[in-house]
Amino acid sequence: MKTSEIRRKFLDFFVQNEHQEVSSSSLVPGNDPTLLFTNAGMVPFKDVFLGDEQRNYTRATSSQRCVRAGGKHNDLENVGYTARHHTFFEMLGNFSFGDYFKREAIRFAWTFLTEELNLPKEKLWITVFLDDDEAADIWINEIGIDPARLSRLGEKDNFWSMGDTGPCGPCSEIFYDHGEHVPGGPPGSEGEDLDRYIEIWNIVFMQFNQDANGVRTPLPKPSVDTGMGVERIAAIMQGVHSNYEIDIFQHLIKAAATLCGSTDLENKSLRVIADHIRSCSFLITDGVVPSNEGRGYVLRRIIRRAVRHGNKLGVQGAFFNQLVSALGEVMGDAYPELIELKAHIEKVLLLEEEQFAKTLVNGMKILEGAIESLEGDIIDGETVFKLYDTYGFPLDLTADIARERDLNIDEAGFDVAMQKQKETAKAAGKFSAVSSQKLDIAGATEFTGYDGLSNQALVTGLAVD
Ligand code: ATP
Ligand code: MG
Ligand code: MG
Ligand code: MG
Repeated sequence: MKTSEIRRKFLDFFVQNEHQEVSSSSLVPGNDPTLLFTNAGMVPFKDVFLGDEQRNYTRATSSQRCVRAGGKHNDLENVGYTARHHTFFEMLGNFSFGDYFKREAIRFAWTFLTEELNLPKEKLWITVFLDDDEAADIWINEIGIDPARLSRLGEKDNFWSMGDTGPCGPCSEIFYDHGEHVPGGPPGSEGEDLDRYIEIWNIVFMQFNQDANGVRTPLPKPSVDTGMGVERIAAIMQGVHSNYEIDIFQHLIKAAATLCGSTDLENKSLRVIADHIRSCSFLITDGVVPSNEGRGYVLRRIIRRAVRHGNKLGVQGAFFNQLVSALGEVMGDAYPELIELKAHIEKVLLLEEEQFAKTLVNGMKILEGAIESLEGDIIDGETVFKLYDTYGFPLDLTADIARERDLNIDEAGFDVAMQKQKETAKAAGKFSAVSSQKLDIAGATEFTGYDGLSNQALVTGLAVD
């Protein structure tokens, strides 16, 4: 079953069950300075959950485009390393705004998976929040799940929140066992991160609104928000383990392989490039352009990562922008803007590629030199700063290269070098040549300005988990 058919089947199922079909919103959340990008299907409905906005329906379904490359949910570092993470993905969801609650939500999900998609029941594993006896009871006594395949997990796994503030609640998740040929253990066990058991669907029982101090107050009405990554369910339906093996990705990977002169379709760099062309193209269609700040800087970082992976494969010259046509071929039906705005997307990407190409090769030489003469396993902050400041290497890009060689970067040393540069510039009485912000992949985020939003909003929106 093609990914586009699964998307359609999902929406049709919920429409038949009296849900209003709502089209995907922009990746740039409207009027929400607390959020960097739309990172889940519920984001466009946030105010409905909070009771601040009324709609003329109480049940909705959507396939929402999402980006997780910053903020509370950040999967940039997972791309190329796991079978299940993308920076851009589509989240299928059904929503109840004070209409149905736990029982119906669980039943809908189960019916869709086992009757519409015919997944074998014994391959599905369930988790619920620690003290959620009600959900556990529904799964075991009404659905008939073997208690051996149900586990109760804590806040990290089974309490979902959109960001540091906003709607949240306990959740119940459905995992699929890809089988013994893949190493790994069930949810909650030691091997859970090994991708044998892959989380496919999260059913959130939206009950609270969390404020900036972490205080949770009940929502006006208990509601439901669910999310299932279409790529993960497509992998199952197409009989493959990794999301990168599904139809959409194979098409992109083949196109990238041709452009990069590569023959190994499982090459990690090809997967990264295929992932990044999606997030970059969709961000551009939603109005983001590469810049040194905020959302634009995230886009710049993703493009530069893709270009670096092309360089690793031996590509000479610009290539990334040429993948927009391949993306239009596999996703243009669902997202005509990819075709309508093709020339614009290509132009934006090409410009950024050309700009970075000027410094990438020389920067790589500096980095290779530093690695060669390295004692220990930490690349010093001065070098990392020089790459950032003179060669346009975002911090996370250098960290990514370091990680490939089992090395780390000295982030504290980078901060010191950055500070020193700022002070020198100040003493010289001129404007700082250093960008006014940096994104720190490890946690702290420091900003001095961003598209007219308050610093506080920035910190909440961009702090990386
Ligand atoms: P994981 O634990 O695998 O990182 P998650 O718990 O962070 O997933 P949720 O926030 O619960 O994911 O999102 C709901 C669903 O969206 C997931 O069950 C999964 O199907 C899908 N999903 C989440 N993150 C990604 C991603 N980076 N790429 C592809 N699909 C994703
Ligand atoms: Mg995650
Ligand atoms: Mg999870
Ligand atoms: Mg989850």
